[in-house]
Amino acid sequence: MSKDLKDKTPAELEQIVTDLGGKEYLAGYIFSFIHTKNAPAIADITPLSKAFREQLGAQGYFVSQLKTVEVLADPDGSRKYLFELGDGERIEAVLLRDGQRQTLCISTQVGCAMRCAFCATGRIKLRRSLTAGEIADEVNQVEADAGKVNNIVYMGMGEPLENYDAVLKSVRILNDKSGKNIGIRHITVSTCGIAPAISRLAGEDIKPRLAISLNAPDDALRARLMPINRTYPLSKLFAAIGLYQDKTGQRVTFEYVLIDGRNDSETHARALIRRLRGISCNVNLIEHNPYAGCHLAGSSRDRIAQFASLLKEAGIETVTRFKLGRRIKAACGQLQAGYGPQKTSK
Ligand code: SF4
Repeated sequence: MSKDLKDKTPAELEQIVTDLGGKEYLAGYIFSFIHTKNAPAIADITPLSKAFREQLGAQGYFVSQLKTVEVLADPDGSRKYLFELGDGERIEAVLLRDGQRQTLCISTQVGCAMRCAFCATGRIKLRRSLTAGEIADEVNQVEADAGKVNNIVYMGMGEPLENYDAVLKSVRILNDKSGKNIGIRHITVSTCGIAPAISRLAGEDIKPRLAISLNAPDDALRARLMPINRTYPLSKLFAAIGLYQDKTGQRVTFEYVLIDGRNDSETHARALIRRLRGISCNVNLIEHNPYAGCHLAGSSRDRIAQFASLLKEAGIETVTRFKLGRRIKAACGQLQAGYGPQKTSK
């Protein structure tokens, strides 16, 4: 079992504290000092007596901290963070600004096993999954640099539902009132379509918003762009989405990366409209951001506008996301944390 106090929920901290003979309420100090004051070490949790801090340390407990290796700022206001984990692995997180609101896109794995054709992270392959503490710490470290984060989207490196337990635990930590207190409606988990995990999430007591990286209206095309579709085809995926909606009453967001000549025709748009008929949803159209070695080109802005207007005419709420952060390679599908060919070939 991990001895990292950052990786613990308040209930787990209570257990640790009481097992060591301490009063339950001390767990609240530990949790809030770690998650609201970004305490870097047990020694900094000063409401605890020195003796109790030493006792925790003697038992092997510690507070992990991501190391911020690099922060890149784009003139459009977005910022990309390169973090190093305790074992030297690296991840990235991206902060997007919209007026006063700040949305942080966080990573859940180093690399990704899903191999989506349009995504740089998939090229790295999976190196390891993050702990809940590491995931939550992305928020701590970004807030230390850029101030309060309002929304969290699990859309960075990795497939969140392939790291289910740690992701759900991190949602609990970020949502907890004595910590960051980020409302559950401001936390979105995005998946490439792990249908059984979506069904499992529907049965949890805490239910973040759900986003589905869809990218194609039919199985044949989707399987070419996203190999996961061979395991969980659209019938299974949409059954799981239906269950999630039944349990939550939430609208689901579908993300659709527009790739030139692949999934961006009028025929594709009309098939997508048919596919989404009767589903409470909105669609985010995303400009494709080719990475080094990627053979897929992005659709033209005219094509994207045509695609968007077809969806809107059909009554589907549609937003087009143009390449925020593209100058710092922080846009969707571009996160590589230095593992990709751009850096290794230098
Ligand atoms: S799009 Fe998401 S699920 Fe697909 S390879 Fe990239 S990180 Fe993995």
